[in-house]
Parts: sequence; structure tokens; C-alpha cells
Amino acid sequence: MAHPDELVLHSPANGTEVGRVAVSTPDEVRAAVARARAAQPAWSARSIAERCAVLLEVRESILSHGREIVALVAKESGKPQHEGLLHEVMAPLELITYFCENAERVLAPAPIPMHLTKHRASYLHYVPRGVVGIIGPWNFPHNLPFGGAVMALLAGNAVVMKPSEYTPLIAAYVHGLYVEAGVPADLFQLVQGRGDVGATLIDAGVDMVEFTGSVATGKKVGAMCAERVIPCVLELGGKAPALVLADADLDRALAAVTWGGFANAGQVCASIERVLVHERLYDRFVEGLVTRVKALRTGDASASDDIDLGPLQNARQRDIVEARVNDAVAKGARVLCGGHRIEGPGHFYAPTVLADVTTDMDIVNLETFGPVLPVMRFSDEEAMITEANRSHLGLLGYVFCKDAERGRRVAERIACGTVMVNDVIASHAMAETPWGGLKQSGIGVTHSDEGLRHMCQQRHVNHDLVPWMSSEPWWYPYRPQDLPRFEKALGALYGQGLAGKLRRLFGSND
Ligand code: NDP
Repeated sequence: MAHPDELVLHSPANGTEVGRVAVSTPDEVRAAVARARAAQPAWSARSIAERCAVLLEVRESILSHGREIVALVAKESGKPQHEGLLHEVMAPLELITYFCENAERVLAPAPIPMHLTKHRASYLHYVPRGVVGIIGPWNFPHNLPFGGAVMALLAGNAVVMKPSEYTPLIAAYVHGLYVEAGVPADLFQLVQGRGDVGATLIDAGVDMVEFTGSVATGKKVGAMCAERVIPCVLELGGKAPALVLADADLDRALAAVTWGGFANAGQVCASIERVLVHERLYDRFVEGLVTRVKALRTGDASASDDIDLGPLQNARQRDIVEARVNDAVAKGARVLCGGHRIEGPGHFYAPTVLADVTTDMDIVNLETFGPVLPVMRFSDEEAMITEANRSHLGLLGYVFCKDAERGRRVAERIACGTVMVNDVIASHAMAETPWGGLKQSGIGVTHSDEGLRHMCQQRHVNHDLVPWMSSEPWWYPYRPQDLPRFEKALGALYGQGLAGKLRRLFGSND
């Protein structure tokens, strides 16, 4: 019998049905959170080494099933197989490996050197939050939500995950690998469905939310978390600028910008969305870029591993891309290549380069999330930095130049969570580095020591070192004769230099 509500998935490349998934009811979502809560104490009672041992079994299983993952990602999301292997298999393997090697160190109690009260000691210790709700997008259906799950689980939490309605099959497949490898089924659960299922998950009593998705949905998620006073990490959209400075290595910049703009058909939060080129290189850069982009081969990744670019993942996304390009052209942009959808089955859009773009165009201001690179010409570096920082988004930024010192100097002035010099996107696969946006690109970070610790409550214990002290000077009783002594003590502590301290200690109180 057909389930009363199900997601019916179609290949974004050829339109054929690729599977169906039952939508979780609100009762099922609440029951999943309750089961996860019940399973969590036993998991957190295991040592970090024991939790790592289970996650390393998961790693082994992902490694053994890499081909199946690549094939399913190609079928469900349209991603080229190279990208499936590197972004959806290797990056998760690296993340598991890094955190299994480092979780004990990162989550060890951390002493706090005491400043004034040296007769006492403080330390931080890290306690799992409980049940972490993870809500994921469709553009990296394994890498993103499961990366969060690995960190949450290693930290001792239970996880209930709501993948995107567009990519539930890959989530279900990978989740099955986790359970087969030894992650308790109640500890890590999947609920499936549309946005309302995500909202129900937040409402079902989770202790923290890790959300990756659009700014618009992120604001709703953030508001729901605020009402419930639970922490959330919001990983939202990007509008990454690539600044090609006057002394850039042209070949490397061209190769990087082409890949950074068109990998995953531009559907990467860290994709290059604006190319800012110094006039000294502009003509050669644009000519080289158009040559490279024209050579990109689009196709159905589930039928061939000999393509560079798949389709947009869904029809809505292609409509957005088309609207952005049409708006730019109507306002005077020049299409140097592409600029149109590719007719036929699937949501293909031709890889596009636009010149003569101006700051009143949506393509320059709003996230496009598609295979389009608008290129802007600048005569000086200051203007490039100003334009890069004009965006309301601040996830990733890129600087291309040969002078390393100058590259870092410019990078430090770009208001983004991460700025890479002479490279693009790859920092997401460096699990030891923080990933998180500024401005409307989000709140909080994932990855890195800080991201792992954030999966825990950070608790502070302060204890005595001098057990025979029967009282503290600031406790009762308050006696008038103590006030002048306290004033002297303040002088000794906070007086300016030795002379100032002595003067206040031994001088008159008047
Ligand atoms: P959406 O915001 O549309 O959806 C993200 C997730 O939220 C989906 O699972 C969605 O379900 C769910 N959702 C929708 N409405 C609600 C709600 N009211 N309450 C709770 N959950 C809800 O984003 P996309 O899936 O379209 O992903 C693309 C966006 O993600 C881009 O803006 C991109 O830049 C950003 N992104 C950010 C990254 C980062 O690290 N900063 C990384 C990757 C992507 P459903 O799919 O069923 O609608």
C-alpha cells in the first residue's frame, strides 16, 4: 500500500524516477527524538576512545561502499563522479579521521590560569548537549549533514537528522551504513520530509540545532531556537568574491576560478559568485576564462564519468539562475558564453560568463547558486576590497596574487569567515579549520576544535586549593573597619606601577 505521504525523487539529469521515501509524521518525529534521548546516556557513558572505535568502523564501511555512494549521489543530485568521490566520500573520511585522532585532546578538561584568586583553581569540562537536531541541504547530501553528525556523536550526543527533501535517498543509504557499522539505531535517527518536518524536529525537544541551508530558512530556524533558548549553528548562504590582483599567477587564477565557479554546477555555498579582476590582467583573464568555460562538458553523471558539470539539482534552482542572468542582461550585462538553459531532459543550464556587470544587478548582490560567473573590472586594489565587502553575506572569499605577504594582507581585510589565498573551496575539507560565515552567512562554526567543543555544554568548575581557609574576606560579617583595608588592598592591586601601588598602600586614605 502506498504511504499516505511520500517524496518521489526524479533524476535532475534525465527526469526518471529514482526512488520514493515516506515522509515522517509529526508523531514519528517526536518519537524519534524521545528514543534518541533515551539512548544518549549509555552512549555518553562510553569513553571517547570507544565512541571513536565505532566511528572508525563507520569510516571503514564508507570506504568499502564508496562506489555505491558515488553512484547514488550522481543519480539523486546529478554530481559528477569525480566530485562524488572527492567531496562526498573522501571529505567525510578525512573528517572522521581527523576528529577520531583529536577528540580526546579537544574534549579533555581545560584548566584556566587564575588571574587574581590564586588560592582557587578553575577548569572547563565538556558535557554532551543531549540530542542534536541536524537539518541539511541538498548540495552536499552526505558531506554536510553527516559531518555534523560525526562531531555530535563523538562528543557523546544523540542525533536526529532531517535531510533535504531533494536528497533523502543518499541520506538513508549512508545512515544505514552507520547503523550497520555499530552506531546504535536509536542513538542516530533519520526523519524524512519537507521543511515542516525540520520545524517539527526543532519543536520536538532537541537540545541544539545544526542547520545548513538558505538565509531565509536559517532566520526561521534561528527564531525557533531563540524561542526555545537552545543553541544553534547556522551555516547559510555565500556570495564569495574572488579578487584577482594585478600580480596574480594568471594560469592558477584561471584554473581556480573556473573550478571554484562551476564545481557542483556552482551549487556550493563557497562557490565563486563574483570575480573582481585588476585591469592589468582583465583582458587576458576574461579571454582565458571564456576559453576554459566553453570547454566544460555538461552531462548525466549517472550515465558517464566523463563530464565536468551536472545539471542544477532541481527545477526551482534553475529558475533562480535563469532569473538572475535575465535580470543582468536586461540591465546591460554582456553574455560571453552560456546564458541560457539547455533544452531537453534535466535541469541543465549552460556554464555562463557575464561581463559589464554592475552593482545594481541581482547577479552581483544575491546568491545565485548556479553555473554563472559575473566578472568585474577594477583599476585599484582598494576598490576591489570595498566591493568584496559590500555584500550582506560573508562566508568565503578568495585572493589571487603572487606576493604572499600582500595576499595575506588583503585576505585579512575581506569580511568573510574564511579567506583563501590562491585556492578555492577546499578549506571545507580541512576539518581542523573552522567553517562558518560572517554577516548573514551564519552564526557559529562547525569543524575545528571549536566546532567540536560547541557540540558540548561548556561547564566551568572552580574549586579551592587551600582547604583550611575558613572564610573569604568578602563574606559576612561586613565590618566598618574593613573598608579602609579593602581600599588599601585595591590600591596595592590596581595602582599604577610599583610607585603608585606603594603610595596607595602606605599613603593616607583621604
Ligand atoms: P533551504 O534553506 O531551502 O533548506 C535547508 C534545509 O532546511 C532543508 O532540509 C529544508 O527542507 C529545511 N527546511 C525548510 N524549511 C524549514 C523550516 N521552516 N524549519 C526547519 N527546516 C526547514 O536550503 P537548500 O536546501 O536550498 O540549500 C541551499 C542553501 O544552503 C544555499 O543558500 C547555500 O548557500 C546554503 N549552504 C550553506 C552552506 C554553509 O556551510 N554555510 C553549505 C551548503 C549550503 P526541504 O529541503 O524539505 O525544504
